Amino acid sequence: TFHKSKGQHILKNPLLVDAIVQKAGIKPTDTILEIGPGTGNLTKKLLEAGKMVIAVELDPRMVLELQRRFQGTPFSNRLKVIQGDVLKTDLPYFDICVANIPYQISSPLTFKLLFHQPAFRCAIIMFQREFAMRLVAQPGDNLYCRLSVNTQFYARVSHLLKVGKNNFRPPPKVDSSVVRIEPRKPRPEVNHKEWDGFIRICFIRKNKTLGSIFKQKNILALLEKNYKTLQALQGSQNVSLSGNDDMEFARVGDESMEMDDGMDDDMDMECDEAEEVSEFKNKVISVLKEGKFEEQRASKLSQESFLTLLSMFNKAGIHFS
Ligand code: SAM
Repeated sequence: TFHKSKGQHILKNPLLVDAIVQKAGIKPTDTILEIGPGTGNLTKKLLEAGKMVIAVELDPRMVLELQRRFQGTPFSNRLKVIQGDVLKTDLPYFDICVANIPYQISSPLTFKLLFHQPAFRCAIIMFQREFAMRLVAQPGDNLYCRLSVNTQFYARVSHLLKVGKNNFRPPPKVDSSVVRIEPRKPRPEVNHKEWDGFIRICFIRKNKTLGSIFKQKNILALLEKNYKTLQALQGSQNVSLSGNDDMEFARVGDESMEMDDGMDDDMDMECDEAEEVSEFKNKVISVLKEGKFEEQRASKLSQESFLTLLSMFNKAGIHFS
């Protein structure tokens, strides 16, 4: 019996298993990370192709079944099984990752892999079809989103195989796709929190112009808060460097964003405060204008354009984390 809650859909088509292993381009010297080995159909082929397989499996029953399957075979000393949740496991060194994963962990797992150090050669992963299409979507495509931009910023992503439901037992409700993820080397030298905070804002409404997004009061308030925090920080830097930890930067998605601080309704707002707000607004708008980004929309912008705009903002002292 299989656990639906653990996303247990076993690959039953041996030709597909072979195709996945072949696409992975495994070398005989490779250490392979497999996530969710289940009953071991893929594991066996990985052991044939590489030097070592490290398999992380959540379900203790599957771990037992896997160990039983390879016990007493020449494979047993080249297979290391770690029982646990891959998202909570410290991953060891590996050259390649090959996995037919439970789809509910797609997003956190992708980011865990993208930030894994040292960077591996590539990951060949089965995802739900729509998730896979989001990963590879290009500017202007319908599915182009924050996930596409973020993933492609850190990795080259390509679609390898379309996989129908009937290749699994029991069949899942959705179609699947196998994707290759190759981390960019060297890793882009950008502060991830800064990049992520910026991309979140741009994609608040991906079809709205950046001009109208950045004119929103709550966005301006957030950016101005960061601006002031940073100025205070720079002012006090000579006094205490360790003070950084106490400073609170705001980002979209933080709780601080969800609460209305009452600024909008404050009838007693002092004049100079209001002027200061619009001065900051002008600063933001002039950056957008200078780079000709005011009329652009996130849904059509490339990585390079996002990076250009972010560094223009940063140069003007405007920060996102
Ligand atoms: N690799 C096998 C195959 O292709 O036949 C099974 C794939 S099945 C889609 C996903 C496997 O991941 C299941 O064996 C499930 O128990 C395991 N799993 C689920 N959540 C997990 C997690 N958080 N960490 C590690 N393994 C997990």
